[in-house]
Amino acid sequence: MTLQLTFLGTGSGKPMPHRGVSSFGFFREGELFLFDCGENTQTQLTRSSFRPGAIEAIFLTHFHGDHVNGLPGLVGSLTLDQRERPLDIVGPKGLEQWFETLRDLNILWPSFPVRLHEIEEPGVAYEHDDFEVVTRPLDHRVTTWGYALREDERPGRFDLDAARKLGVPEGPLYGRLQDGETVELESGRTVSPDQVLGPTRPGFTLTYCSDTRPCDSAVALAEDADLLVHESTYPAGEEALAHRRGHSTAADAARCADKAGAHRLVLTHISQRYTQLDEMADGVGDIFPETSVARDLRTLELERREAS
Ligand SMILES: [Zn+2]
Ligand SMILES: [Zn+2]
Repeated sequence: MTLQLTFLGTGSGKPMPHRGVSSFGFFREGELFLFDCGENTQTQLTRSSFRPGAIEAIFLTHFHGDHVNGLPGLVGSLTLDQRERPLDIVGPKGLEQWFETLRDLNILWPSFPVRLHEIEEPGVAYEHDDFEVVTRPLDHRVTTWGYALREDERPGRFDLDAARKLGVPEGPLYGRLQDGETVELESGRTVSPDQVLGPTRPGFTLTYCSDTRPCDSAVALAEDADLLVHESTYPAGEEALAHRRGHSTAADAARCADKAGAHRLVLTHISQRYTQLDEMADGVGDIFPETSVARDLRTLELERREAS
């Protein structure tokens, strides 16, 4: 049950030698989900432990170049790699028009089905076996969608001692109880799942808010999130400038994490004018202690929480 997140680009505006532009990959259960796809994302992918072929879906927040300019190149390379599996791309209205133009001009001729999902309203933007991705509009200069990937709740831990005491023989009955089924033993006694399972355990929630001024939607998306990846174009103290440009400061991001009851915050989308990344989180620890700053190609090994 591996969960891994690798930042592929953590800067804003334009790609620089020291820092690329927005993108990260979230790897779960053998599949890769990409959030934003700024220029150079595919090169960064080759430097990471992820395989581009493992990409299952791509989520785009908005049509500013630093979040999407890498997409045509990546889709082109997947074609050269002879991908056949469908690829889902979720993003703002305009996605279909963009792809139509790329196809018409023969810039792209995908060898595989590209399934485009234009977001029209808040709600569930994408469904998968055991998680969904919910979206809400953020407050930026153009239509921008934030995302929360919410895994389903998991069954409680199996209590071996309890099962033995109840006389459940080791074997397939364990699995059936774990799947939520009441079983009958040879003795005629019935055993229900709640007799052998601990409390239900939460699934993992990953929230991504970029680009945005502080807003209620971001807080709602980040509610109880295990990990909030939030833009922090400017350091604390630069709120006036940040808000005028449709962005947040590190302190804004920390306040969002705090209000939402998130468990961990990582700041990304750092203005390229700031090179001392550690300073980006200065003055933020008092608002939300579990704050760190993203770096290109840094990987976070993530764990699901136990029942509280
Ligand atoms: Zn941006
Ligand atoms: Zn933007």
